[in-house]
Amino acid sequence: MSPAAVAVYNWDLSEVRFDPATGRKVIYAPARARRPSDYRTDLREIVETRACPFCPGNERETTKEVFALRDSGAPDEPGWRVRVVPNRYPALTPPQGFHEVIIESPVHGERWSTAPLRRIEEALEAWQERLRRLSREPGIRGAVIFKNHGWRAGATRVHPHSQLMALPFIPPQLDYELQAAPAAGPCPWCRGLENAAGRVVFENGGYAAVAPEASRQAYEVWLLPKEHASRFEEIRDLAGLAGALQRLWRCVESALHQPAVNAMLMTAPLDAAAPHYHWRLEILPRLGTIAGFEWATGCYINSVLPEQAAERLRRADPDSVPPGEAG
Ligand SMILES: [Zn+2]
Ligand SMILES: [Zn+2]
Repeated sequence: MSPAAVAVYNWDLSEVRFDPATGRKVIYAPARARRPSDYRTDLREIVETRACPFCPGNERETTKEVFALRDSGAPDEPGWRVRVVPNRYPALTPPQGFHEVIIESPVHGERWSTAPLRRIEEALEAWQERLRRLSREPGIRGAVIFKNHGWRAGATRVHPHSQLMALPFIPPQLDYELQAAPAAGPCPWCRGLENAAGRVVFENGGYAAVAPEASRQAYEVWLLPKEHASRFEEIRDLAGLAGALQRLWRCVESALHQPAVNAMLMTAPLDAAAPHYHWRLEILPRLGTIAGFEWATGCYINSVLPEQAAERLRRADPDSVPPGEAG
């Protein structure tokens, strides 16, 4: 290529990264970065055409509850703090699989950034309870729990909720990670944490918030236990996790102006021991789009390096202690 041609293409250089733990290959393309002012909240509101079925008093609008934490009332009556119901429009039906909705709060429109910590903790408790319960169903092999927050993230309801899908197979992503992680020897995620210096957003109690080595989209960030643990449903310190989760949600909302977000729980298979797996919660702000290249290749194009993402999230951390005030 002639020098003139090189000059024409002299944008910020792209970079390809590979994450041995997930097998993901990501193309970082800084030249495609949008200016910060483009990272606006998607203001399109979800149009609710009838009373919210997840609000207290409307319990009859949902299917019958399978679990609840309550102050008062009988099943399918008000008085609950967290309520779990089968999805009215299930992607999987028993006995093949289960698709449930965890209604995380009685308060319509509440967000994890400002919810009482106890509320987040109880939502996580419901996640654990349902994972433990559904792991006893014959034929159930794996499960995912995900939260779609905001219209661009796929949410159709404003009321705070997450979804659980118990599957008759091991999800391909989890399967890949189980194959890639050596059953004996060092855990790639534990080792990843040791080498994450520039990608750490914060450490909070037993948890670390880290931009992953090969983030798929701008500002993807993971919350991992610092001590090795394969199963989310077995952890005891839910208060600590709720605190770290709220802090991370605040960083994301503050840095990116309340974007739509997908949160996804990755945990070991339900039907087999996988002590070498390291569970995590993935937070994916929905700033870009998945288009032809991604569908065609299974690879991703990301405009923001994980180190840059971590730095911006760190600077936005409302709970960080300024130097000199620590201790
Ligand atoms: Zn509601
Ligand atoms: Zn580990």
